[in-house]
Amino acid sequence: MRLYNTLTRTTEAFVPRDAGRVSIYVCGQTVQDVPHFGHARAAIVPDVLRRYLEWRGHQVFHVRNITDIEDKIIARAKAEDRPAAAVTETFARVSEREMERLGVLQPHIVPRATGHVLEMIALIERLIERGHAYESGGDVFFSVRSFPEYGRLSGRDVDELRVGARVEADERKRDPLDFALWKGAPADEGSLTSPTWPSPWGPGRPGWHIECSAMSTKYLGESFDIHAGGMDLVFPHHENEIAQSEAATGKSFARYWIHNGLLHIGTEKMSKSLGNFITLGEALDRYGADALRMFFLSSSYRSPVDFSEERLAEARAGLDRWGAFLRATAGLDPVPPTAESTEIRERFVAAMEDDLSTPRAQAVLFDAVTAGNQHLEAGDVKAAAALRALLLELAG
Ligand SMILES: [Zn+2]
Repeated sequence: MRLYNTLTRTTEAFVPRDAGRVSIYVCGQTVQDVPHFGHARAAIVPDVLRRYLEWRGHQVFHVRNITDIEDKIIARAKAEDRPAAAVTETFARVSEREMERLGVLQPHIVPRATGHVLEMIALIERLIERGHAYESGGDVFFSVRSFPEYGRLSGRDVDELRVGARVEADERKRDPLDFALWKGAPADEGSLTSPTWPSPWGPGRPGWHIECSAMSTKYLGESFDIHAGGMDLVFPHHENEIAQSEAATGKSFARYWIHNGLLHIGTEKMSKSLGNFITLGEALDRYGADALRMFFLSSSYRSPVDFSEERLAEARAGLDRWGAFLRATAGLDPVPPTAESTEIRERFVAAMEDDLSTPRAQAVLFDAVTAGNQHLEAGDVKAAAALRALLLELAG
């Protein structure tokens, strides 16, 4: 299989570290609100990759975290005057329920940041020992200058970044590009609404980036196969994850970086902060999980996707065609594959092997439905039954 690797900017042969076993880490949601429609795409893309790899006989180990320590969570807890843990518990449950409705496989491990603060502290200590991080007034920062590879994933020039970062200079940092690994808490914090954890640098909270480095390494090891997430996470989140992890271990972190394109409405990304989003729950109620999956998979996973009622209606109509063919062939006796069904299966595999080309794979399945209907009209029930079996295998 070939996959586009953001790290090398090329489409490469995908070769797992251990033959037959694939480890995947996916950045999960920050649970300060219900998931929106865009979160569906970030879940469906790794789900399809995992299902395909499993179908091809690999054993996949899939981790997706829950970010349940973050400034936005605390802001919401304060606004609603309730414990931060109550906020995150509420939305983690909603998220889990909606992902199940969407039909994505549950990851094997769903670690929460709050359960891994000790691992984060240990990682930060290791970075300090190795000269890649420093304490400053209760905060700990990663020293970007100490990691010459910084900027490799996102293709950014460190000097240019530095000029931009000077605008918001912070005297606690040695370099404007340094980012927080640990955020010391103000004296009035440390309550249920704004929890803090004890650390060698005083009470505080981990930064968002270190959360993913600590959780991925704990469950998948210091080096693993695939790290996935939305395109909006490439910089700074994933760039920082690489810097932290590789500086701490001296080993290469994730080998393949797979990023899905974002969901747009008009020219803008669908996001909470822009206020132009519909929730995943609303989208599921309105269109149904199958149409949502069909809609997302009709575009290349790397392209941006425009939300449009017409495209969702097309996805629905396509599903109806599949459904009509499956109903029309429901009573046929099973038959072994035919030359035609084998050829269609090979075309499907070729599309998926080519950087997960789901639009081409979908087109192949539509060809199968068209051919199957022609066989039914011509009375060739064996040929139709073989295509029915194929459709159920590949898209059931
Ligand atoms: Zn992450």
